[in-house]
Amino acid sequence: MPLYEYHCKECDCDFTLLQPATVNKDETVCSECGSPRVDHKFSTFSSKIQGVSAASKKGPVTLDELPNKDILKLPVPRLRSEL
Ligand SMILES: [Zn+2]
Repeated sequence: MPLYEYHCKECDCDFTLLQPATVNKDETVCSECGSPRVDHKFSTFSSKIQGVSAASKKGPVTLDELPNKDILKLPVPRLRSEL
């Protein structure tokens, strides 16, 4: 389950909730004062993923970034009609 960070506009506190991705975030209330005036900031889980990919995306993907370089050493499959 991802972590969701909220900011309460009522009591100005930040809180984090472990919620299923399917939860209606509009119905989340502040864990401190119970106010529904909360801003959904971001999901810790997904922001980490996006942060990594954004940081490493400084240019075109090079061979070193491929997770499995061995795949390029495999013989290219040929069509039977080419033989
Ligand atoms: Zn609050």
